[in-house]
Amino acid sequence: MRVAYVNGRYLPHHEAAVHIEDRGYQFADGIYEYVAFYNRTLVDGALHLKRLERSLRELEIAMPMSHAAMAMVIRELISRNNKDDGGLYIQITRGVAKRDHGFPKKVSPAVVMTVCGAKLPTDKQVKDGVAVVTQADIRWGRRDIKSISLLPNILAKQKAIEAGAREAWLVDGDIISEGSASNSYIVSKAGQLITHPANEFILGGITREVVLELAKNSGVPVAERAFTMSDVKNAAEAFLTSTSANVLPVTSVNGKPVGNGKVGPVTRKLAQLYLDHIFKITGKKI
Ligand code: PMP
Repeated sequence: MRVAYVNGRYLPHHEAAVHIEDRGYQFADGIYEYVAFYNRTLVDGALHLKRLERSLRELEIAMPMSHAAMAMVIRELISRNNKDDGGLYIQITRGVAKRDHGFPKKVSPAVVMTVCGAKLPTDKQVKDGVAVVTQADIRWGRRDIKSISLLPNILAKQKAIEAGAREAWLVDGDIISEGSASNSYIVSKAGQLITHPANEFILGGITREVVLELAKNSGVPVAERAFTMSDVKNAAEAFLTSTSANVLPVTSVNGKPVGNGKVGPVTRKLAQLYLDHIFKITGKKI
């Protein structure tokens, strides 16, 4: 049976609910994390926890439980769901209070955790790459916070789905900031890996952090700088990263092939290095 954790209780997933005056429901006043696990072991759990705490701090929401308590709940939840491989959502909101924009005085943060099946890309997507389309980036100025306010992201993703694409790349002025639910990269013809710097204009992905480290350690030159559509047109390769997509090749943007339209060697290498990284942590070969 699928089990959810809601404010200290383990409940059947279909019965799990939050109060109608939860500020997450009312105002999207909260944050979340999504962590993959294999063999019941979180992939880069410490990095995700660090980002979760940072998101909370930026919104002045107190961390509702100790690291040890959170680790215990996560272990227990995965075990109760009887799942070896999958994904863990952690969602924390400011709590339940009478509707009023200002922060309520005495309120405890509300914590929900759920477990779902692994959301890996298909073999074909990994082998042949995926299509992306561009959409205007209409989000706010603090995209570095992993906020549950995802309306612009879902609108952009829906447009991508309607266009038959895997992802929407968000364009802010001239600049491609990131995807609707992933970070964006190109590889120049000179072999340099280029991705938007991790500042307030993008969500600093955990996969991004790890992949950039793997790239540097394996001799791939990395430039953390903004890139434009004209850079994409001149690029040799492109890819995206996220906790669920890993390193996923992008072979067309707005219907036009990137480079020769095939998955390139730098992308292949980084995709393999990232899978090796997962294997090292969890013992799972994907
Ligand atoms: N950017 C956005 C907007 C996202 O929603 C995500 C996925 N949550 C990412 C980037 C990738 O982050 P991560 O590698 O931590 O999954």
